[in-house]
Amino acid sequence: MNESSTVSTAVEAEASRLAADATPACIEFLRDLVALPSPPRGERLACERVMREMESLGFDEVLLDDMGNVLGRLGSGPRTIAFDSHIDTVGISRPALWRFDPFKGQTLGGTLFGRGASDQKGGLATLVHGVAQVAKLGIPEELTLWVTATVNGEDCVGLAWQYLIREFGLDPEAVIIALPSHLGICRGQRGRLEIEVSTEGISTHGSQPDRGANAIVAMAPIIQAITRMHGKLSQDHEMLGRGSAAVTGISADSPSFTAIPDGCTIRVDRRLTIGETAQSALEEVQALPEVKAAGAEVRFLEYAEPSWRGLEYPTEKIFPAWETPDDSHVFQAAQSTARRVLGREPRLHRSAFSSHGCATKGLFNIPTIGFGPANEKDSHTVNDQISLAQLQPAMAFYSLFPLVYVG
Ligand SMILES: [Zn+2]
Repeated sequence: MNESSTVSTAVEAEASRLAADATPACIEFLRDLVALPSPPRGERLACERVMREMESLGFDEVLLDDMGNVLGRLGSGPRTIAFDSHIDTVGISRPALWRFDPFKGQTLGGTLFGRGASDQKGGLATLVHGVAQVAKLGIPEELTLWVTATVNGEDCVGLAWQYLIREFGLDPEAVIIALPSHLGICRGQRGRLEIEVSTEGISTHGSQPDRGANAIVAMAPIIQAITRMHGKLSQDHEMLGRGSAAVTGISADSPSFTAIPDGCTIRVDRRLTIGETAQSALEEVQALPEVKAAGAEVRFLEYAEPSWRGLEYPTEKIFPAWETPDDSHVFQAAQSTARRVLGREPRLHRSAFSSHGCATKGLFNIPTIGFGPANEKDSHTVNDQISLAQLQPAMAFYSLFPLVYVG
């Protein structure tokens, strides 16, 4: 890509200036978002706050879909780029462990603290402001830009985008996700799936175990086998590494603690790398001799919780691995944009997390890139935080990207 011929240095400087001017308002908006708790399926107040901000910043259209996702549009050209951030956050387990109130957005030494500051309210605040600034730089005629503030990202990642594409009809040719990449570029993530394995037994009185068949005992060799299987997963990927398998839950059915259980179920968290599919991962577990010997049942889990607007949109808990090639136009444009904004070569961000990229690229094959402020090491911790110095370059990235992309 010939950088000098696409977007002029004057436009770059203007994007940088607009982002700097917007930083105080962006911080206020971010503080408001942090102060509005938004657990999965409880995002209403935060959604309304995002809509107000989009309206005041002059988006051409601001709407709420039936699931409860907020969408803001700029431009009306035939080619669509979407900018996404999920709006929900994980909860708070032990408030006493927090140094700062998780729902105040307090700042200290240039850092803002609070639940969701890193994952992904910081990204969301900079997206809304950054994309709004494209209007001041001049939206290319051929483009439509959508900012999507999506719900249920923590509960069932990718679900909102299954809905946006299949039901709402959003059809972007590229997606930028404001994940906490510490201003690095993410072009792929491992996938994930949830598997359940069940054994059956015969219940008898606990004083006479030999007369029955204990479903927990039948499960024991399966747990060992899955743990061994993890160490033998051979599919490797240059950027994402190998998949993983871990037993993360167990429960048993028994009429009483004085009876032999006749049912036992484990949960398996299976991370997928490129080259592994949900079906191949399921079949690997089904093929374990210990699973066959016990006659155990192996299945995917389903997600079917109603959103905050009451919409149920059931899906299997399958979140594919995804990768956008480094020679793709969207990655090249993201690299070029980051270079201009940061004044240096951007890092490649190797994410440990999942994001809606599992749907946009993993299910629908839309070229997808992650780029955002904040560091994922702070996400889901009691030190959830964002460096305020990253807001300006993040906004400048989002405002400049569409111009570089079509330039
Ligand atoms: Zn998260």
